[in-house]
Amino acid sequence: MDCGSDKIIYMDNNATTRVAPEVVDAMLPFLTDCYGNPSSMHRFGGQVGREVTKARASIAALIGAEPEEIIFTSCGTESDSTAIMSGMQTEPDKRHIVTTRVEHPAVKTLCENIDHLTGHKHRITRLPVNNDGTLDLDLYRDALSDDTAIVSVMWANNETGVIFPVEEMARLAKERGILFHTDAVQAVGKIPINLKESQIDFLSLSGHKLHAPKGIGILYVRKGTPFIPFLNGGHQEHGRRGGTENVAAIVGLGKACELAGKMMEEENSRVRALRDKLEQGLLAAVPRSMLNGHKSERLPNTSNISFEFVEGEAILLHMDRFNICASSGSACTSGSLEPSHVLRAMGVPFTAAHGSIRFSLSVYNTEEEVDFVLKTIPNIIANLRELSPFWYPEHAK
Ligand code: PLP
Repeated sequence: MDCGSDKIIYMDNNATTRVAPEVVDAMLPFLTDCYGNPSSMHRFGGQVGREVTKARASIAALIGAEPEEIIFTSCGTESDSTAIMSGMQTEPDKRHIVTTRVEHPAVKTLCENIDHLTGHKHRITRLPVNNDGTLDLDLYRDALSDDTAIVSVMWANNETGVIFPVEEMARLAKERGILFHTDAVQAVGKIPINLKESQIDFLSLSGHKLHAPKGIGILYVRKGTPFIPFLNGGHQEHGRRGGTENVAAIVGLGKACELAGKMMEEENSRVRALRDKLEQGLLAAVPRSMLNGHKSERLPNTSNISFEFVEGEAILLHMDRFNICASSGSACTSGSLEPSHVLRAMGVPFTAAHGSIRFSLSVYNTEEEVDFVLKTIPNIIANLRELSPFWYPEHAK
């Protein structure tokens, strides 16, 4: 199938990323000749098992963990569910969870359903965010109680890229004997992470956000943290997650983590510079446009911009005609015309929340692409505003 990827300008990397060619090469033998089961006693399986072990070490190295602290899962969502459900079960006398109003649906929906899933009534504190998407640590401190079983706070927000001080938050939780989980699906590979120097108990990672394939994730569980599996079955992952390993994807994730370690510098210099050029260019060229999210406490690749008095969906459709891919809100919320829960929590005005576009870049983007987008989008917005009953030329003044 020719899906036209050579013609597109892909700026939707927080939704998913291109699988790196080096990752594809690393995976191929495990989709063809090397099909043994890593748990088998024979050499044919054993050699595959050794590659799983190597991949585990590469992943652990990227986040400053020990290989034994890594459990392979099917995705970020499974990792999030596993961590929170384990926390609730290992702390059966505590019925309080602290999270935020801007979590990804993987955590948000689980918390909404936790009573039904556990058969117990829980209290959930969803911390508000400031207008720039940052958290107030005093509110967090006040929210922690003797009844809090687990805190689940994302490392970086998928819609705005805003980074939360999770290491400090984990330290405060630990002082109170509370488990701490972070959904680091958007952070890993984009900013340095060293779990050895933190008190984080659980961390979720997803392969397809860092140039590995879809359908592979990991849950980091700190050595000594009590843990109850989510998927019960065989003895894989030392009995912590049943199910035959997705070997090719695991090897791919190992390779992607090696590459991410090497490309982190580029992510934080060249990609950041491209993002800044795009952002500053659009904000300067389009009247009544604004940045959503803190200017500096942010992932280097993400820019969420509101164009007032136009619909994000309409902008995306017009961008699509120019082969430019981006997103309005997260992939899970686009498709509905409700403004995203993240922008609503930040108090973004209705007219701006509806016209928000998330650009998320990667090392595969070029300056020529940014220049093309800068030439194209201001015209799209101007044309859409001409059709809008809510737009008057004086708005531009
Ligand atoms: N958490 C965050 C912050 C995400 O951005 C995503 C995916 O968009 C997920 C969790 C879910 O990850 P997966 O698609 O691997 O289930």
